[in-house]
Amino acid sequence: MLAIKCDKPGKIKLRDIPTNSDGGLKREESPTRFAALATQLAELQELCYAAGTQSLLIVVQGMDTAGKDGTLKSIAGAMNPVGIRVASFKVPTAFEAGHDFLWRVHQQTPVRGETVFFNRSHYEDVLVVRVHNLVPETQWQERYGHINDFEELLTESGTIVLKFFLHISKEEQERRLLSREENLAKAWKLNVGDWKEREFWDDYQQAYDDAIEKCAAKDAPWFIIPADKKWFRDIAVAEAIVETLKPHRQKWEQILAGIGETRKAELAAYRKGVS
Ligand code: ADP
Repeated sequence: MLAIKCDKPGKIKLRDIPTNSDGGLKREESPTRFAALATQLAELQELCYAAGTQSLLIVVQGMDTAGKDGTLKSIAGAMNPVGIRVASFKVPTAFEAGHDFLWRVHQQTPVRGETVFFNRSHYEDVLVVRVHNLVPETQWQERYGHINDFEELLTESGTIVLKFFLHISKEEQERRLLSREENLAKAWKLNVGDWKEREFWDDYQQAYDDAIEKCAAKDAPWFIIPADKKWFRDIAVAEAIVETLKPHRQKWEQILAGIGETRKAELAAYRKGVS
């Protein structure tokens, strides 16, 4: 697998993990490679939707400019729009902040059959909240356990949970921020806040180390995606989702065959009654 899969708690040092890997792939072969994965992705997601017994939650996290939007565009774009949804998590409103931190998140989790992408997520409550001391340490420390329990509840209820960290270097972030100034089409993305947050780079990396380390679980794994190369990022994310869904294919196909038989029998009984 091209992504670095973390499926049990264990020490993580993002600083030591390269951001610009290409997995030995060549850029020229990336469109063909992605197209093949996109076809499988679309098939598997449609099967999940039609079988209607499970759901898929894909969490996308990363530093500013890491490519969350681009990843969603590529991956969600490969799927059937019927049955998928994106939930974006911004600074909580006063009403949201008046509840526990998982309240607004739980409402956005996928219903059976559905695929939901989280563009930022409950992890912000142990990332930005921790870096800027928005709540006391004793409170955010408790949250790793709450997150693990929450995700366990989801997976026990039939949701397949995957979490992606798009890993870029500080230098690549600078390049991307500066390119927004040069490109009029991208200038709408300019935000002075991104430059301010950049000053807290090391604190964020530390917070990510801990979040990945403490909340990596067999049924809710983290995938670290070297994301300096956008074409590699998309292939690595698509591959991780395909590999996770593949083992479910046969079961979903059997469910669909069963549903098909029932529907055919209903139709036959109806026709008999009419004639
Ligand atoms: P994005 O950067 O995702 O494209 P925005 O520019 O609107 O979108 O940024 C959303 C902001 O909301 C980010 O700065 C993020 O840290 C912040 N945010 C998200 N969740 C929380 C939270 N629970 N507490 C505080 N800030 C949050």
